[in-house]
Amino acid sequence: MIIEKVLIVDPVDGEYCGSVEIEDGVITKVEKKDSIPNKILMPGFVDTHTHGYLGIDCMSASPKEFEKWADIVLGDGVTTLFPTTVSSSKEKLEKVIESFSKTEHPSFSYLHFEGPFINKEKAGAQNKEYITNFSKEKLPDLKDKVKIITAAPELRGFKELIKFTKDNDIKISLGHSNGTFEDFKDAYENEVRRITHFPNALRKFHHREVGGIGAAFTFDFYVELIVDNVHLSKEFVKLVYKIIGPERIILVTDSISAAGLKDGIYELGGVLVKVKDGIAKTEEGTLAGSTLKFIDAVKNFKQITNCSLKELSMVSSYNALKSVSIHGGRIKEGYPAKLLLLDENLDLIKVL
Ligand code: FE
Repeated sequence: MIIEKVLIVDPVDGEYCGSVEIEDGVITKVEKKDSIPNKILMPGFVDTHTHGYLGIDCMSASPKEFEKWADIVLGDGVTTLFPTTVSSSKEKLEKVIESFSKTEHPSFSYLHFEGPFINKEKAGAQNKEYITNFSKEKLPDLKDKVKIITAAPELRGFKELIKFTKDNDIKISLGHSNGTFEDFKDAYENEVRRITHFPNALRKFHHREVGGIGAAFTFDFYVELIVDNVHLSKEFVKLVYKIIGPERIILVTDSISAAGLKDGIYELGGVLVKVKDGIAKTEEGTLAGSTLKFIDAVKNFKQITNCSLKELSMVSSYNALKSVSIHGGRIKEGYPAKLLLLDENLDLIKVL
């Protein structure tokens, strides 16, 4: 297949007019051409943090439901997603892995385990009953299906978790943490490079103890951002764009099963969640994930920061994959052909 007369948007080479050839799901040729493009071609969106969609919940999804979920979000331009668990029992997590292992969908490779090795003081909407310190015995057989584990660096067993993840080619993402700057610095020095839904569920920034927020502004961490205009103010998004920069921002939805559905009462890992005006909260009033669509996160980010399309392709695709050492997110020979055709308003025309 040849896609012609498009504005190619690559996170490294930038924006230029040209054509792209695809064969067997791989980009085989990219050519610069002097013509006037009528559409935008971007790498497919990558969502590394999503708990559910349209009534489907990662914690209980059957293989068929997982696949349905991937099909639905494909319509929002998400070509790779990491279904995300919440803190739960070893048995329950084992069942999720089992079900996910039986799926066959080009958008799936791995799961994201959010917890259970996090800090109860920063549980957010996570079920405190299952939150615990790390030891290998507490994890089910991951069957090479887990790529990200969100964990708190101040927890007992964290050093052991670092070793375990290095041995098993898994990336730690720091989150749900009351850790200090030193805790985050230590993790950084041990090659941890990610922070989960920054700065939600982290210790508050204090000028004498800058915590994980200060560490993110100091070191080269990748940071997940939920840009739904609820989890973060526009000013904060601008601040992160200015200080951390588009090279290390990763847009995520953190969507729950209520996403795409009406307001009402839902469940997230055994915790009741009330959705009103699209905002999901627990009974205590803590934000419990989002009902955000990825394409809206992309549009919100563009609108808030006025970033370039090149930068938009970094934050919506390339950085997410780079943060977990997966090849993709570019429009270049040899890369997987997971591409989006968009119009100038960033409305999706077609997923390729
Ligand atoms: Fe969370």
